[in-house]
Amino acid sequence: MTAASESQTGARVQRLPLARFTTLGVGGEAEVWFVATHEQLAEAMSAPYRILGGGSNLVIADEGVPERVIRLSGPLAERDLTPDPDLSEGDALVTGWVGGGVPLPGLVRALQKLGLGNLEGTVGIPAQVGGAVWMNAGTRYGEMFDGLHTLEIATPDGLQVLSPDDLRWGYRNSGIPRGHIVTRVRLKLQRSTPEEVLAKMTLADTARKGQPKMKTPGCAFKNPGGVGAGRLIDEAGLKGTRVGGALIAPEHANFIVNLGGATAGDVHALLDLIRQRVGVPLELEYELWPGGAQGQAASTSTSRPWAVERQ
Ligand SMILES: Cc1cc2nc3c(=O)[nH]c(=O)nc-3n(C[C@H](O)[C@H](O)[C@H](O)COP(=O)(O)OP(=O)(O)OC[C@H]3O[C@@H](n4cnc5c(N)ncnc54)[C@H](O)[C@@H]3O)c2cc1C
Repeated sequence: MTAASESQTGARVQRLPLARFTTLGVGGEAEVWFVATHEQLAEAMSAPYRILGGGSNLVIADEGVPERVIRLSGPLAERDLTPDPDLSEGDALVTGWVGGGVPLPGLVRALQKLGLGNLEGTVGIPAQVGGAVWMNAGTRYGEMFDGLHTLEIATPDGLQVLSPDDLRWGYRNSGIPRGHIVTRVRLKLQRSTPEEVLAKMTLADTARKGQPKMKTPGCAFKNPGGVGAGRLIDEAGLKGTRVGGALIAPEHANFIVNLGGATAGDVHALLDLIRQRVGVPLELEYELWPGGAQGQAASTSTSRPWAVERQ
């Protein structure tokens, strides 16, 4: 860790351990850029970078990553839930801008208190809004794109303002290219009551019973051909297997948890063991940074003033 400095446009820049930004609590150092304005973001994107959201779908190497790691902060992590009078009509409401760096759990709780529906199905997903939009995170009870009206996306060629119809989004996929950054969104919500929204959230939350409550990046593997990956790992006798500080959760075998002091190496050793022991090919659910086949290619762009494109 080094002392913080300021970039030309005023972004706070500091070498920090990435472990603190992930739900697994694992990951070495990188140069972290805390960007609060579009101008700072353009500067941060002028060299190879990665965008880090809630860190809830990542296993980051113990060596960290060589690229800049961008975190949305300040106004890009704030929410304006005031209904836009020009776009809202009857029970259908469109909010002001909600930053990509806003934590999703707090947003979902706030919407429940206001009695506003459409995002109830995303309850319990420990993401940031930008990361959840990029993956179209969700459950069988609903997903991010159920509640999106407008997306603002920073691309290497400039800032774009899009409607969901402009994107080929689908199951756990927004259609937004890797390295393009979801900076802000406007939400499309349904007026309801706090009680009704809570009832839907409770239904979605009930499906999480049995998931471990410890530090984890969520499910390790996708379900191959409709069979539960957790069941396959359990049948291979691996539930409760421990390497260093990492454990295949006794509650649910498709979760690897950090008992405290786990390294990325420990997690990789468990992932390798599972792949060896389970008879069918398994595809990772989370991303590895810097990653082999499934990691994120770092992005580059040239710094330039952005024109807002409306499509
Ligand atoms: C306990 C637990 C439960 C979970 N349950 C669910 C679930 O029910 N449903 C589900 O879909 N997922 C679930 N997940 C997985 C995870 O929360 C989602 O994949 C989520 O979309 C990741 O968002 P994030 O902000 O944490 O992104 P990160 O983990 O920080 O990053 C993941 C990817 O998104 C990119 N990204 C991050 N922010 C942005 C941005 N602003 N713009 C563009 N790209 C960005 C990153 O570069 C990276 O490629 C769960 C995870 C955990 C730990």
